[in-house]
Amino acid sequence: MDTIPGMSLTVVGSIAFDAVSTPFGERDRMLGGSAVHFSLAASFFTDVRVVGPVGDDFTQTELEVLENRGVITDDIERVPGETFFWKGHYEFDLNTAHTDDTRLNVFGEFQPKLSEASTAADMLFLANIQPDLQRQVRAQCGDAGFVGLDTMNLWIDIAKDSLIQAISEVDCVLINDAEIRQLTGEPNLARAAAAVMAMGPRAVIAKQGEYGAALFTPGGFFALPGFPLEDVRDPTGAGDSFAGGFLGYIDGEAEEINQQTLRTAMGYGTVLASYNVEEFGTERVSRLTRDEIEARLEALRSMTDFSV
Ligand code: AMP
Repeated sequence: MDTIPGMSLTVVGSIAFDAVSTPFGERDRMLGGSAVHFSLAASFFTDVRVVGPVGDDFTQTELEVLENRGVITDDIERVPGETFFWKGHYEFDLNTAHTDDTRLNVFGEFQPKLSEASTAADMLFLANIQPDLQRQVRAQCGDAGFVGLDTMNLWIDIAKDSLIQAISEVDCVLINDAEIRQLTGEPNLARAAAAVMAMGPRAVIAKQGEYGAALFTPGGFFALPGFPLEDVRDPTGAGDSFAGGFLGYIDGEAEEINQQTLRTAMGYGTVLASYNVEEFGTERVSRLTRDEIEARLEALRSMTDFSV
């Protein structure tokens, strides 16, 4: 792989209020959304511009969670109506999110018109949202040399053709293992990843919840376990935080994209996801430090070192 990354990363995805209950607590209404979790995680490595609509109910307090981490919010558009709302719960198996309600609200009519600065990004992440919207943003970011995409079962159910088209226009797909099987109709993970690469992308990351994540590329395979934690309170946003650590590191700190930098990026993705799940919503990542990230990366490195 040869793309030369630069220093600016645009993300489109949901900016949400989430209602979440897990066996360890609940929240009625907290800041969430795929683009929010992604940008907070990526903000430790690079300049992140977040694109998407919010409603009248979205206040300065929520905006400040992003701005306090240096996320550039110029392309967050305030429109009349209510912010995207997702309600979900988890049982003792925290690997599976059960959706109770999804209200697209302001996303229903959203037509993205990106600022010049956002369209000029050299990396782009199409976080989980309607695939048509992902494609509209992809079309506006012609300079992006590396584009990632995430999705979920809802869009495989109701917009599969459009999703496959969106996938054909990106470099890297991040998807959980149940979804990659559903998307491809292929029960074997290696074959399912190959089927996604046959659609266009040159890398596929299969996310496996607490068991970690696996990276498939034409020339190789790499996997990391989830960071072992004794306290997991809310897995919401783990996948987006993983993607933020992964793409943020590549954009901000990797000199080029090769097997070694992709592996380091997998490490940062794993670390950001692990911090995210320790508390509800954005609570933990909002006060995370780079030193804490590095300490956990080192711990992960030593616990996965196969040569000692
Ligand atoms: P994750 O746990 O990383 O898969 O993503 C959780 C986030 O995805 C939550 O904060 C939700 O607001 C958001 N979300 C849930 N359903 C959807 C959907 N259909 N489209 C976009 N975002 C969603």
